[in-house]
Amino acid sequence: MSNFNIFKIGVGPSSSHTLGPMLAGNLFCQKIKDNISNINRINIILYGSLSLTGRGHLSDKAIIWGLSNLKAKELNAEIQAKVISMALEYKKIHLAGIKNIDFDYNVDLIFSKDFLELHENGLEIKALDSNGDVINIERYYSIGGGFVMSEDELIKYKENPNLQIDNGLAIKFNTAMECLELCNKNNWNLAQLSYNYELQFHTRDEIRNYCLEIWEVMQEVYYNGIHPKDIKLPGSLNLNRRAVGLNQRLTLTSDPMGIIDFISLYAIAIAEENASGARVVTAPTNGACAVIPAVMLYVKNHTVGFNDDKVIDFLLTAMLIGYLYKKNASISGAEAGCQAEIGSASSMAAASLATIMGAEANIACNAAEIAMEHHLGLTCDPVAGLVQIPCIERNAFGAIKAISAARMAMSRKSTPIVNLDDIIKTMYETGKDMNSKYKETSLGGLAKTISTVC
Ligand code: SF4
Repeated sequence: MSNFNIFKIGVGPSSSHTLGPMLAGNLFCQKIKDNISNINRINIILYGSLSLTGRGHLSDKAIIWGLSNLKAKELNAEIQAKVISMALEYKKIHLAGIKNIDFDYNVDLIFSKDFLELHENGLEIKALDSNGDVINIERYYSIGGGFVMSEDELIKYKENPNLQIDNGLAIKFNTAMECLELCNKNNWNLAQLSYNYELQFHTRDEIRNYCLEIWEVMQEVYYNGIHPKDIKLPGSLNLNRRAVGLNQRLTLTSDPMGIIDFISLYAIAIAEENASGARVVTAPTNGACAVIPAVMLYVKNHTVGFNDDKVIDFLLTAMLIGYLYKKNASISGAEAGCQAEIGSASSMAAASLATIMGAEANIACNAAEIAMEHHLGLTCDPVAGLVQIPCIERNAFGAIKAISAARMAMSRKSTPIVNLDDIIKTMYETGKDMNSKYKETSLGGLAKTISTVC
């Protein structure tokens, strides 16, 4: 209902493959809490993309954290390591945070290459009693951006996607066209529309506090990214972080293109934090979590007048555009390729930047359209199943394209031929047509070429 959930404070490296499975584990804890005294064992099956890139994306660990009833916002490296060591070395899970049960990683957690029919990211959790009889069973789908639905919910949603919207709200919209009609009628820009929409669910103070907290965490993530505890990123690629060195080498220069290096630094530092499994803001996904803060850091550090009000307008606009992608297409790399992740983030940032630069709603929508138009067809082929290559640099390009798109939209005199709804629809159809090798399976593209060469 509210779009607050477009930005979430969570852990890396992936919203659909880490945050989603963790949340599924939390939801299952709720489901079993009345039966917990009878439960002796848990079986988990990860399907499709969750299975194919699950190890690199920490899906296996995330489900263990979730079933221990740990919440993403409260996780830190120490708790993460303790729970995983308990599961792998001592073969125990503290189920729902209530009781210890036996857990054998090699038997109780299955990676199935099969895809479930409803969505590319499915998982099933079973609770068994001491006789091996099933007490509870549930299938969950991680539909992107850390959003999770049970099988029943997803079936109902697919049957009637507008169910939640047709609920008597005074301000409601499903498409960019409907947003523009509301803006024209009320003389609002996109940030004002989003603000008035959110006022139906939150007070003014709640909206302000939420946006400022998100911005504060984004800046913390950047700071941590240039002051990391460990220079190495986790995983088989054995990559060193680049942001630390880049930050030390960069100086303000008379080269007019030097600004590009700063934008890359902001994006790389944040994306590296995500790749390390640290705390980040999902925006709208973890793989693409650096695009929006990199553009905001550019505005903060290289322009004048970026104050709290502008931060709020920026994030409110981004939330609204993110909602349009989530509602009418997808923000999941497993469902529609990287265009749905980096492309959506870039599109959100472009509209936000245009809005705080003074753009009316139609111009901000055009900025969002331009940014997505030039991400169309972008595949998701993470090397070694890690959110590192091409993901980290891709965040920098998403940010740079967003700035370019906002400036292009604001300086144009011609009437755009393609509108935002057209491009959202095209992105989704392109994603659906995309071979599954290019949708977060690491079975094609760069992931395949590099592993062949190695
Ligand atoms: S390639 Fe893009 S969509 Fe795929 S994991 Fe990386 S950032 Fe996410």
